[in-house]
Amino acid sequence: MSPIRVRIAPSPTGFFHIGNAKTALINWLYARKTGGTFILRLEDTDTERSEAQYADIICEGLRWLGIDWDEGPAFGGEAERGAHGPYRQSERREIHCGEARRLVDEGNAYRCFCTKEELDAERERAQAAKRPPRYSGKCRNLTSEQVAAMGDRPYSVRFRVPQGATTIDDLVQGTVRVENKEIDDFIIVKPNGDPVFHLAVVVDDGLMEITHVIRGDDHLTNAFRHVLLFNALGYKLPTFAHLPMVLDETGKKYSKRLHGANVLDWREDGYLPETIVNYLVLLGWTPEEEGRELFTRKELVEAFSLERLGKSAGKFDLKKLQWLNGQHIRMLTPEQLRDKVLPILHKA
Ligand code: GLU
Repeated sequence: MSPIRVRIAPSPTGFFHIGNAKTALINWLYARKTGGTFILRLEDTDTERSEAQYADIICEGLRWLGIDWDEGPAFGGEAERGAHGPYRQSERREIHCGEARRLVDEGNAYRCFCTKEELDAERERAQAAKRPPRYSGKCRNLTSEQVAAMGDRPYSVRFRVPQGATTIDDLVQGTVRVENKEIDDFIIVKPNGDPVFHLAVVVDDGLMEITHVIRGDDHLTNAFRHVLLFNALGYKLPTFAHLPMVLDETGKKYSKRLHGANVLDWREDGYLPETIVNYLVLLGWTPEEEGRELFTRKELVEAFSLERLGKSAGKFDLKKLQWLNGQHIRMLTPEQLRDKVLPILHKA
């Protein structure tokens, strides 16, 4: 098996969005093309918004599209798979907290006792002075005696951002760089003991030995913090590829409220999963064979390469989707078509 390990890490806070489906598909194609491993990790740590039913919906959406995972959580009577589990982030809390303690012990993070009121006041002062809000660094250099003197006062854990600059050679966005002084010492564990997304995602990617982090470009600015954490934790740095968002027909971000934002809307409408797979990949990738649009799943696996992922966002085009669906329907055998159509007729 190839050493390539990729993942999708959806947060089950709603239905399975087509943008997430596109990200899943690109990761899956890369794994299948290279003989690597495709991992599903559910980032269900937002306890207020995550619900078990949404996790099932994501799994069901992936199943419908034929995006099968090699490692991932239990679903629909099947046991958890893989040697890097658990694959539900909510079950990894102790691992995250252990790594946060290690960062503190090694001097790469520190306990911050500043109260919410203090931090709010700091933020308001910055706003009034039209400065970007920054943490003052008050607790950055507390001595161990000072920390001990705090007794059991609640604290958050902050990452100690080192001096210098951080550069990412992103496969899609190119080289991006930031001066570390632009990055605040960010919180990695909240006062209630909950690990923050940045810590959890890096610990999980690091320990799951992810080689390529391929995800939406809404995470590009987060990636600087992630690189700093990867280095401080001593994990091997993955390659990053941040994909553009899916846009609606008017060129705006495909809103959750629009029909079709939910992948399973297309199943309801009678589209074939092969069509959706074919269509979604074309929203972010161009084949070497210029102008070619029609691909079966097998042909996509053969033709796929990361090098041909595009930087500009794909605009949704319903006409093209309908045309592709017609093409894929024509590829069905009469028996396959019958089996697809009968349930729809029965339901009607
Ligand atoms: N849970 C994150 C999201 O749904 C994914 C983060 C990642 O892929 O690194 O946006």
